[in-house]
Amino acid sequence: MNSSLNAARRERELAEVRGLVVDVLVVGLGATGAGAALDAASRGLSVAAIDAYDMAFGTSRWSSKMIHGGLRYLARGQVGVAYESAVERGRLLGRTAPHLVRAHPYLLPLVPEVSRRHAALVMTGYRVGEGLRIAARTPRHLLPGPSRITAAQALALASPLTSRGLRGALLSWDGRLADDARLVVTVARTAAALGARILTRCRALELSGDGALVRDELGGDTFTIRARTVVNATGVWAAGLHPGIRLRPSRGTHLVLRPETLPGLDAGLHIPIPGESNRFALVLPQPDGRVHVGLTDEPVDGPVPDVPPVPEEDVTFLLAILNSVLEEPVRREDVAGTYAGLRPLLAAEGHTADLSRRHALLTTPDGMVTIVGGKLTTYRRMAEDAVDRAVSLGRLDAGRSRTAELPLIGAVPASGPEDPDGARIANGTNGTNGGKGADGEGDREAGRLLERYGSEAGAVRALMAEDPWLAEPGPTGVTGAELVWAVRHEGALDVDDLLDRRTRIGLVPQDRDAALPLARAALAY
Ligand SMILES: Cc1cc2nc3c(=O)[nH]c(=O)nc-3n(C[C@H](O)[C@H](O)[C@H](O)COP(=O)(O)OP(=O)(O)OC[C@H]3O[C@@H](n4cnc5c(N)ncnc54)[C@H](O)[C@@H]3O)c2cc1C
Repeated sequence: MNSSLNAARRERELAEVRGLVVDVLVVGLGATGAGAALDAASRGLSVAAIDAYDMAFGTSRWSSKMIHGGLRYLARGQVGVAYESAVERGRLLGRTAPHLVRAHPYLLPLVPEVSRRHAALVMTGYRVGEGLRIAARTPRHLLPGPSRITAAQALALASPLTSRGLRGALLSWDGRLADDARLVVTVARTAAALGARILTRCRALELSGDGALVRDELGGDTFTIRARTVVNATGVWAAGLHPGIRLRPSRGTHLVLRPETLPGLDAGLHIPIPGESNRFALVLPQPDGRVHVGLTDEPVDGPVPDVPPVPEEDVTFLLAILNSVLEEPVRREDVAGTYAGLRPLLAAEGHTADLSRRHALLTTPDGMVTIVGGKLTTYRRMAEDAVDRAVSLGRLDAGRSRTAELPLIGAVPASGPEDPDGARIANGTNGTNGGKGADGEGDREAGRLLERYGSEAGAVRALMAEDPWLAEPGPTGVTGAELVWAVRHEGALDVDDLLDRRTRIGLVPQDRDAALPLARAALAY
């Protein structure tokens, strides 16, 4: 079966599902739901998966885009969660999505505010994290180990750092996604290639163990999808469809800076939050050159909005922490965009930062399975657990999950750390500026396409050759060809899908406005 998602396929499959009883109906196409659709399809089950809006409309596009080893869970004694994260990280890096997930270096700058004792504690944690990597059998060439580097080496990797009182830095490595929304679309397309019907703009109005009342948000009509089992993967909205669940969403905010605001940042930064031993703000250089700065963790009460707003106090808080380690402060007017996401945590007593990040499976008496919590890193394992439970409740005739070994669409053999000088960075001897040297524009463009499209990069490049405007780079370097590709193969139905999820141009409102004509041209092409 073809992996291409587009308006014509949606129409056809929407008509088909009305007359069928599918084995598994998945509701919600974030990382978890797309993962469940893939897991079920990989077992030979018939699958329909719906989303009220679009793939990756919810929390899955608002993450820090890290594929964590799970160190912070270990610090809280959650050994099982930490190990599970490290195993899933290794799978993504080495086999299932090596194009989308690469190792990335992070520095913890040893400024005067970080005591020697605190630094020693963090380094011990990193060494334990190294133990997790070994336990998870992730080879060192895919994920280098931690080390302490000098102030000069730290400044070579992160020139915006302040040199005042800088004693050096702790260097560690973790997984980084090219883009979280792209992971979701790639998982969904892989499911589609195995026959899953991926239907966006279909809202579940009511759910039960044997199907859903669904509204086609484009056509406006309401119909029933009948199913032998139902997986509710609606994240922070899950409680609205599963009576009795109580969620305590927690807001995480990021700032988006343009590439020119913090030039010379080849490594990410972990900046300790004053007064907390195990919480850090993150400075996350993105493949498109922008830099994201996160992360808050604030409980949120009340109705769940479609797109969480960003309070100004989150911006002020993050800027203050960021500026504590910079030579030149970043000003409020340098913040080009902001975004917030809501973590779907189960309600419990205590600070939301301390709630378990492990996923939970809940079932209704009539057999609906709801899966909540967890994180992007463990989406595959969450999906496997949810489908295992659905298979057993629905007494379905299904094989075992195959997703642990199943490469996602576009997967190419793993190439190790994303920086060509990764090994030298790992040794603390690096002095490059992130491959901005002799490689040249062409190589960088090829690398960008490879990281986003993997083995499909050649087909995207071929599309560029069809017409000169298709090869013209728009904001963040995205070309018209990539937008046309998204319409033809990645299920993009309108400009929002194109600018806010298939590409992340929309994270900076000014860039989004500038890219609107390109998006409209791609839809009309
Ligand atoms: C700020 C922040 C940073 C994070 N950073 C990381 C990180 O770096 N690494 C990591 O591993 N994890 C991270 N996480 C956690 C991770 O992002 C989430 O756990 C994960 O994305 C949740 O995915 P999901 O599929 O369960 O939910 P969602 O992505 O929210 O998907 C739910 C979907 O259900 C759909 N839906 C809702 N109601 C209906 C309905 N009635 N009918 C049909 N569809 C419906 C929505 O449109 C949505 O697309 C972060 C979370 C936050 C908030």
